[in-house]
Amino acid sequence: MIQDIFPYRLDNTFHNAAPVSSDFFFSFQGEKVLLQIRKDGGCALPAFRDLQCPMSEVSDGTVYLFSVDGVPVYLIRQQDTALLDGQCLHYVPIQSLEGIFPEWAYFAGITALHLGHWYERNVYCGKCGDVMEKDAKQRALVCRKCGNTVYPAIAPVVMVAVTNGDKLLMTKYADRPLSQWVLISGFVEIGETLEEAAKREVFEETGIRIKDLKYFGSQPWGFSDSIIVGYTAKLDGSDKIHLDTRELAMAAWHSRTDLPKELTDISITHEMIEALRIGGKGGQV
Ligand SMILES: [Zn+2]
Repeated sequence: MIQDIFPYRLDNTFHNAAPVSSDFFFSFQGEKVLLQIRKDGGCALPAFRDLQCPMSEVSDGTVYLFSVDGVPVYLIRQQDTALLDGQCLHYVPIQSLEGIFPEWAYFAGITALHLGHWYERNVYCGKCGDVMEKDAKQRALVCRKCGNTVYPAIAPVVMVAVTNGDKLLMTKYADRPLSQWVLISGFVEIGETLEEAAKREVFEETGIRIKDLKYFGSQPWGFSDSIIVGYTAKLDGSDKIHLDTRELAMAAWHSRTDLPKELTDISITHEMIEALRIGGKGGQV
């Protein structure tokens, strides 16, 4: 999965630090990320020394994010991104981070994207409209005028692999460019447990009732500012599908021996499907 960067380790301890020229940084333009494009066409994560402009020109908009194996990583919250897009640095789709140097760049990138979304949406105070400031002691934004303090928001998502004997329930979204088979998932709503959310999502989308929920694993997923919590569950009652056509284009039971393949191995979806394919995690799936 994308967070599996062993032997490297992402340390998200907060520091109110300033960068030096050898430190790495992320800069985003929508869902695009600024990368160093080498002469051979390959990409690498840029360091401050790769900037076309003096570091002092971006320092006001720079925040410390985290470190990976002791190497500090920053975010440049620069609104004028044209300043950064130079001879060797270009904004490219964030998926370009997969497989580039350093090896932890993709996970660090979507974690940075998550924090980038948070900083971008909290420039002004949601209570009084004044400008928010960085807290010096913790990762928080503070309004000096009214005292409002805002912490990074993480939206929990449940994902469910529903089995019926040797079959797995899989779906396709109705309104997204992604056309591959996926597992049922959805955001947890206020006032419900993760298990209740899993049961509700499966029933809303397919009309299927489930039982015997078991925790599978979790995954931070910065693309949607989320943490995804994966469960396996068994069919409870009828296997007849009643499709919610507002959300889904298709839903079907797939045989364990004929499960569709995911395009990449970065997601917990892939991890769960593969666990089913080979007979289950510890024989329990
Ligand atoms: Zn305020």
